[in-house]
Amino acid sequence: MPERNDLQMPFSRLQLELDERAANGLLRKRHTLTGPQGAHVEVDGKRYISFSSNDYLGLANHPRVAAALKSGADIYGAGAGAAHLVTGHSLAHERLEEELAAFVGKPSALLFSTGFMANIGAVQALVGRGDTVYADRLNHASLNDAMLLSRATVRRYRHSDLGQLARMLGETTDGQRLVMTDAVFSMDGDRAPLPALLELCEKHDAWLLIDDAHGFGVSGERGRGSMSHFGIDHPRIIYMATLGKAAGVFGAFVAAEKVVIEALINNARGYIYTTATPPALSVALLESLVLIDEADESRAHLKALTKRLKQSLEGLKWRLMDSDTPIQPLLIGGNQETMDVSMGLRERGIWVAAIRPPTVPDGTARLRIALSAAHDFSDIEKLAKALHELAR
Ligand SMILES: *Cc1c(COP(=O)(O)O)cnc(C)c1O
Repeated sequence: MPERNDLQMPFSRLQLELDERAANGLLRKRHTLTGPQGAHVEVDGKRYISFSSNDYLGLANHPRVAAALKSGADIYGAGAGAAHLVTGHSLAHERLEEELAAFVGKPSALLFSTGFMANIGAVQALVGRGDTVYADRLNHASLNDAMLLSRATVRRYRHSDLGQLARMLGETTDGQRLVMTDAVFSMDGDRAPLPALLELCEKHDAWLLIDDAHGFGVSGERGRGSMSHFGIDHPRIIYMATLGKAAGVFGAFVAAEKVVIEALINNARGYIYTTATPPALSVALLESLVLIDEADESRAHLKALTKRLKQSLEGLKWRLMDSDTPIQPLLIGGNQETMDVSMGLRERGIWVAAIRPPTVPDGTARLRIALSAAHDFSDIEKLAKALHELAR
């Protein structure tokens, strides 16, 4: 083996970039869970109260979902073995698509392996050169990558700035226009003004793609998501949601008019050229859907937890961002201070993810406090007590 010498290594450039990240306190690292996801987790062998998952309803380790997954494996085995358009499309996938479409009130739905792939696949299939995509600046990374890969002209508007979007929409009439937005912003927890966005899309004959990764299962009537939350429903809405967050399993779907789904089946490369998800996951998700439908009590509990968190952090020198969803970011500002608070919490047995640039804008590093119906009020009290101690 040659001596390790950074300058002679073939990857010295990568090493330099990583060293710079580390020097700025921005090196990303993983931690290993030694048990299931939940309100309490074991990380590297130690127990923590966790406010860091997207498992908003506590379904990731729900006995009924886990049992459905096992029964799915008994019927279908482990893997799908092929892409959906070859021989990978099973009855379980088919049934789940029907249930998802009905659940969110759309004529048709299509399963994707992940939300990341659903966004990339859908946008790339829907628009291309000569078309224009309008995107909120705080959209999820997968929507940002999707619009770049689509080769459409890209216009980004300031976060939820409808005036700027209206001006931009007025500037082009060529090609197809597609407006796309997170419904609940993943790092801020606030909601996009969907009714006003829909109105603008109507006026300018643009399509509206809604990414409801954080609304599905949590928001709206019986967890129907953000369209239901705002009481809107329109054929020009292309609805996307993920199944690895509130639904507790894995995957994603797009729900829309039949013609849109047909177009995705025929054109979405992230759908066509990839192996179907294990059918057992779809069996588990069918059970998740039943649980989401029944989870009014969990959703009410989530609201009560959110209220309690806001009350118990009053007077703290850091402030919670303006959000009525289970995503309750605590704005700290500096990268190092955010890391220090996160580490201080960890020493007290509490795990909250520190979110730093480039995931969020410079100077807005934050603790992303994510609540779950699996938390109880004493979890919130412990978090609040620790934060008040650390603020001193
Ligand atoms: C998590 C997330 C995705 C990606 O979904 P995965 O299924 O995890 O790939 C897409 N959009 C938003 C807004 C998300 O929060």
